[in-house]
Amino acid sequence: MEIAREYGCITVADNTWATPFYTRPLDLGVDIVLHSTTKYFGGHSDILGGALVFKENNEKTAFIKKVQCYGGAVPSPFDCWLLCRSLTTFTARMAIHSANAMKLARFLEKEPKIERVLYPGLPSHPQHAIASRQMKGGYGGMLSVLVKGGRENALKLCSLLQLFTHATSLGGVESLIEHRKSTEGPDSATPDNLLRISVGIEAAEDLIKDFKQALKRL
Ligand SMILES: *Cc1c(COP(=O)(O)O)cnc(C)c1O
Repeated sequence: MEIAREYGCITVADNTWATPFYTRPLDLGVDIVLHSTTKYFGGHSDILGGALVFKENNEKTAFIKKVQCYGGAVPSPFDCWLLCRSLTTFTARMAIHSANAMKLARFLEKEPKIERVLYPGLPSHPQHAIASRQMKGGYGGMLSVLVKGGRENALKLCSLLQLFTHATSLGGVESLIEHRKSTEGPDSATPDNLLRISVGIEAAEDLIKDFKQALKRL
């Protein structure tokens, strides 16, 4: 942020994953915060949308508003209605997403068939200290695992899970799992054995039990 300011640049933070429930980029000095409202704000995997939150109302804000109005990137009234209704349960959902993700991450970290768990709430995460400084009260609902045995075992684990739907996107009440490299394509730098998990708000013990049975059969 200091470097950006030195060169007169605007800073933009995509806060879709952390959400304002855990991270407040404007308080950390960012100029514009970006959200895919498709994800945790919507929370039910049934709308598409986005939001920009500005620190200041100035001529740049007015310009971007103009682009939005003239460009037509405006959500439908029904999508706005769904989004407003979803926001009433936003804080309740986020607390469960985060608590579930922490429980699942801790469980998976001890599993011998899992090579590595990537979750900012775990002390083993390389950026855990930064996350703890920036995030308040939790670390969100997204985590990744590297599965031992490469791509083949990663895909097999996906198919053995019964509660986790094999799909892209994130932030909905239901747990999703995705073989990220298949989505990103052959040029992706994502490891072949990486699975990304959007932890839902189901009972944590059910999610852990599902992983237990899948890992046993892997
Ligand atoms: C999904 C996502 C987007 C894109 O949002 P859409 O609503 O799918 O267009 C942007 N940033 C992050 C971090 C996302 O997860």
